[in-house]
Amino acid sequence: MKIDILDTTLRDGEQTPGVSFTPDEKLTIAKMLDDLGVDVIEAGSAITSDGEREGIKLVADEGLGAEISTYCRILKGDIDAALSCNVDSIFLVAPTSDLHIKYKLRTTRDKLIEKTLESVQYCKDHDLIVDLCAEDGSRTDAKFLLQLIEQAAEYKINRFTVADTVGIMLPEKINEMFTYLTGGSKIPLGIHCHDDLGLATANSIAAVKAGASIVDVAVNGLGERAGNASLEEIVMVLKLGYGYKTNIDPKKIAKMSKLVEKLCTIPVAPNKAIVGENAFTHKAGIHVDGILKKPETYEAIKPESVGYRRRFVLGKHVGIKAVKSMLDDLNISVNDEQLKGILDQIKYMGDKGKKITNVDLGVIAHSVMGIDMKRAIEVDELVAVAGNKCIPTASVKLKINGREIIESATGTGPVDAAIKAIKNATKEVPFELVEYHVDSISGGTDAIVQVMIKLKSKDKLLTAQGAGSDIILASVDALVNGINLIMEHMS
Ligand code: MN
Repeated sequence: MKIDILDTTLRDGEQTPGVSFTPDEKLTIAKMLDDLGVDVIEAGSAITSDGEREGIKLVADEGLGAEISTYCRILKGDIDAALSCNVDSIFLVAPTSDLHIKYKLRTTRDKLIEKTLESVQYCKDHDLIVDLCAEDGSRTDAKFLLQLIEQAAEYKINRFTVADTVGIMLPEKINEMFTYLTGGSKIPLGIHCHDDLGLATANSIAAVKAGASIVDVAVNGLGERAGNASLEEIVMVLKLGYGYKTNIDPKKIAKMSKLVEKLCTIPVAPNKAIVGENAFTHKAGIHVDGILKKPETYEAIKPESVGYRRRFVLGKHVGIKAVKSMLDDLNISVNDEQLKGILDQIKYMGDKGKKITNVDLGVIAHSVMGIDMKRAIEVDELVAVAGNKCIPTASVKLKINGREIIESATGTGPVDAAIKAIKNATKEVPFELVEYHVDSISGGTDAIVQVMIKLKSKDKLLTAQGAGSDIILASVDALVNGINLIMEHMS
């Protein structure tokens, strides 16, 4: 059986405290949701603002395969705003619990039905698809829900969604409610769950098992308060747990999650199911050993099936055999001396409290193996000045493949100035300095310092190091080592 997916990242997801998408961001997300295979995209709430309408219209006019919907209350003004955005459908929300009817709307059940049907009729007069949603439906008398469905069916609603608006439902109760509703009506039913008790996924699945055919989700479980049922969990539970079909291509989940994380600026919790940083990361030695022998021993979901890569946390207790095996997986061949150098490096970084994974391993291996490689860049001269009556300034003379380049820069201090001067001299090499870390290996002002930097070039991350008793020279050394590595990869 096929289950439809309605994604509300752009509406309920945007109700996450601190999240607001620009019209262009909405379009970027909608295009990826469409490519992912989402059936319905709830693009926003048209009545909210001019910017919101601009975003919804941008999405609706893009000609995506997905049905484009917008949230409306049972108010003519809301529906008019939706009409101005050219949407295909309306997520028409009517509060149905006695609590909402009496205290929020200060009306009666009969009047609510009357107003709802008027709104449905108005939508239908404008050829809109109508998904009538019972707000606080989970706390609504099921008989009243069925009565509303039956009457709205005469007005040709296309779907009816029960919202567990406050996230209070339990799987058994949902199952009972949906069994009753599907027994009494042929209108396709949807479920909209919130995660206040951590049951959004379980409750949504319980509704599906009792006949719901469309599930509301948000990427990374974004949404009001504790969030909505998460797209990634629902899709994978439906597929792996129950064998239901959806239009979603799970391999694109990783990319989708990262895009939304980046645009909403709310980091995904590392322990979040499926899309968290640790979801496919193994740490315990016993687990790592088992995985290396046969991944299924400790992996129920294949990381690549959702677009991720398996990672191992490597610490100071890591064995040389495990490192060798992981290098083999990365197609990196090393001799014994290099292998020992890599292991030393892992232990050194582990002692410094750095979390190292097998993804970093490739980077470490390349930097260890790169020590004796041909260097495209050499530093001929470096002068850096600093003091309390001058602007920190550095000048540098480099040879890039034998060609001499002289550059200078000012900075917040001599290290910053020197790094900027090197950057100015190496503009032809694309990179970004993403991390800079200094350690003093011995005590005293004449201590040897070790500088570790992380560079990003295109999609690749790499680390490089420099050491010495002069922090400026050690920093420059680390950076130049890193740039040499990038140039080695480029050639
Ligand atoms: Mn909601």
